[in-house]
Amino acid sequence: MARIGLTGLGTMGAALALNMADNGFDVAVHNRSNDKVDAFMESAGDLATRLTPAYELNDLVAALEAPRAVIIMVQAGAAVDSVIDELVPLLDKGDLIIDAGNADFNDTRRRTQALEELGLGFLGMGVSGGEEGARHGPSIMVGGKRESFEAIEDIVSAIAAKYRKDPCADWLGPDGAGHFVKTVHNGIEYADMQLIAEVYGLLRAGGRGMGEMAELFADWNEGPLQSYLIEITAKILASRDAETGEPMVDVIVDSAGQKGTGRWTVIEALKLGQSATTIEAAVAARSWSAGKAMRKDAEKAYPHGKDNTAEILDADLETALFAARIIGYGQGMALLAAASEHFDWSLDLARVAEIWRAGCIIRSSLLDDIASAIRAGIPHGQLILAPAFVERLSAGVPALRRVVAASVHHGLPVPALSSALSYFDTVRRGRGTADLIQAQRDYFGRHGFERIDRPGTGFHGPWAE
Ligand code: NAP
Repeated sequence: MARIGLTGLGTMGAALALNMADNGFDVAVHNRSNDKVDAFMESAGDLATRLTPAYELNDLVAALEAPRAVIIMVQAGAAVDSVIDELVPLLDKGDLIIDAGNADFNDTRRRTQALEELGLGFLGMGVSGGEEGARHGPSIMVGGKRESFEAIEDIVSAIAAKYRKDPCADWLGPDGAGHFVKTVHNGIEYADMQLIAEVYGLLRAGGRGMGEMAELFADWNEGPLQSYLIEITAKILASRDAETGEPMVDVIVDSAGQKGTGRWTVIEALKLGQSATTIEAAVAARSWSAGKAMRKDAEKAYPHGKDNTAEILDADLETALFAARIIGYGQGMALLAAASEHFDWSLDLARVAEIWRAGCIIRSSLLDDIASAIRAGIPHGQLILAPAFVERLSAGVPALRRVVAASVHHGLPVPALSSALSYFDTVRRGRGTADLIQAQRDYFGRHGFERIDRPGTGFHGPWAE
């Protein structure tokens, strides 16, 4: 009998099943289209002895030890509901379903409640690291009942990436906590990718060749920016198209895809009264990138002349990127803190940072410092106020300011870099401009305001006619 089942042998499901088999677990595998089951078994090599193919879901369930545990690794949304609907009549009370795809955590909360009412366990398990991570060690963020997690903890810990022997996987809280953390992870990933792309754009506007840029990113990967995304950017920029011999990036259409996790992050941030502007800028930039035809016409309507980045120094770009990265991570962490309080999850944010240190797409040397800073206590839940980060941002923001100022001056687009800077400049003002907003609200809607010189609410004008 197999210890665990998995349905959905796409990119991630196949890699995760092989990872579990590689770690000594017997796995029953199923896929909606049966040809994928055969292809998967053929590709499994020696690991096939630990894998039981199933062509129907009831065969998958029949192949499992009780209490059963079944991982679903299919597209988010309706596909997950349809697989759950098919699975439920085949399972017994005490069995466990694990959604290991990227899910909207609101769906995970709904599914948790519905399945627990039927006596079934349900875990929302975010898996990060792409295909390579899923195969050899992803970062895994689990939400649901703790005892449900404990039923599969040995498997999750074994297959996860390790950071100095510590598995980058953990139970983070009830119901949607795991999927929420994975969503915000992806939001931070969007922000970091966009920040990197903007810096690439500035270098390109300055006439730098791909090889030169590749070397620069590889060099930066040896310093404070060390991270998976900087590392792969260096490799990507060094790659050439086999057909044309051109740099790979030059033959790719500049319209980015998105599956929803960045958008979900921004939506949930807004619902929680939070600001994740660097992430929002990244989501918006992907949306704008899709309008290629419109952008080409806009370029004709508003010609921008020759690009000029002469005064932007490479060292400033490196430091600006680092400062903006800290601000992006900080916004993501603040969002997690707000969600934890709102949903009563008691998220251990330091642990979240720890399980992102290896395996996942946003892994970077910074995360170890973020975990330590959070463990030491951060004022107002704001990473940018942690002493170690006050020091880094104080040193880095002047470069960010120079880069953004030069970009704005020359009409070069830097939506994420500039929104990170705007956020920083806004929150470091003890007195902002919302006094005027409150006055306007009271003027037209008698919404009332608080006064600086006495307690209480609901004060009003008089306003001059
Ligand atoms: P994929 O390669 O496109 O595979 C999708 C799988 O879902 C296939 O096995 C497909 O079965 C199955 N499926 C789709 N609709 C279904 C339905 N209505 N009923 C039953 N099965 C259905 O996708 P993937 O990249 O592995 O992604 C799977 C999940 O992991 C998604 O939630 C994704 O967001 C998440 N994820 C992906 C990555 C990544 O880097 N790719 C990273 C982290 C998380 P058929 O073969 O029959 O079509």
